Amino acid sequence: MKISPQLDKILEKAWSNIPLDRQDCRYLLTIDELSFESGLLRSAASSIIRSKNDNSAIILGQIGVDVTSCPGGCKFCTFGEDHTRFKDNHLRDEELEEKIASFCQYDDLYGLYLMTMHSYDLDRYLQIISKAKALAPKSTQIWANVGDSSLEAFKEMKSAGVTGVYHVCRIREGVDTKLDPRERLQTMKNALDAGLELYTCCEPIGPEHGVDELVSNIFIGIEIGITQHAAMRRVAVPDSPLAKYGQISELRLAHIVATISLCSLTVPTMAYMGVHEPNELSYASGANIITAESGANPRDSQADTSKNRGMDMARCRKMLFECGFDNIRRGDESKIPLNLDYLIKTNS
Ligand code: SF4
Repeated sequence: MKISPQLDKILEKAWSNIPLDRQDCRYLLTIDELSFESGLLRSAASSIIRSKNDNSAIILGQIGVDVTSCPGGCKFCTFGEDHTRFKDNHLRDEELEEKIASFCQYDDLYGLYLMTMHSYDLDRYLQIISKAKALAPKSTQIWANVGDSSLEAFKEMKSAGVTGVYHVCRIREGVDTKLDPRERLQTMKNALDAGLELYTCCEPIGPEHGVDELVSNIFIGIEIGITQHAAMRRVAVPDSPLAKYGQISELRLAHIVATISLCSLTVPTMAYMGVHEPNELSYASGANIITAESGANPRDSQADTSKNRGMDMARCRKMLFECGFDNIRRGDESKIPLNLDYLIKTNS
């Protein structure tokens, strides 16, 4: 079976650790995800990524600490101020303690995200960080997922114990959202300037997005210097204005995951590749981050996502095992062998 000379050349570059450019990325995204060549791309991405880190994956935990009607107004998000049905709610201290205890019960959580809305109370957020830092094991990193923030705010978060920040400039930011793409990008720079690691994502991908839009979005992260990249498909959340466009398939998402994996491979700081929401096809296509979620979630119409879309730690371990990973890494990069004994020990 022959493959196109372009794909052959791109895979050669990837195997040789030569950076892929925007044209390469564009070409990969034009390949039909049902084709033999897509299968080859996905398996190449998986093999290369796994060969670089001893076939390891990481589990992140995300806790939504606030629910408010959000001025971000994103047309795909369940909290957008013009269409949300949620009432304001803030996680109580004892709920936070319970959730952290549950995520960290077996000391195999790489990082814990504390997620809030676009507008948030910095003082309260810093208190939550300090509490989480005190409660989580030393081997679990604390990460921030907040709205646009200043350099000073990130410096304070760093002093309180945060290692990194999740931040994105979304596809059609400013069109499908009320936010300014320049501020989104400045926030990403602020996080890096504060000495924090940056985790970004090409999101939220819908069927209506063209290849060039995806390429531009993917290269924001690659060019700024991320530690983690990812792909997220938009979930057609009922009542959200963009739900009418539907969703891309998990197979298409896996194809995009493979493309981003290969394109971000040579970024010096790049360590792990994520996918939202977790699915087996993407873990066989280069992804090696899985996220357990609890509390508020922009892709879910339930107040506590762990009761609906969100996966718990046990399901995350099991999915990684089924996808053939040999190790789970803690936040200090130490490894835990992922085998049947471990699944039994952790009630997974
Ligand atoms: S995606 Fe984030 S910024 Fe946008 S409406 Fe939802 S919570 Fe607000």
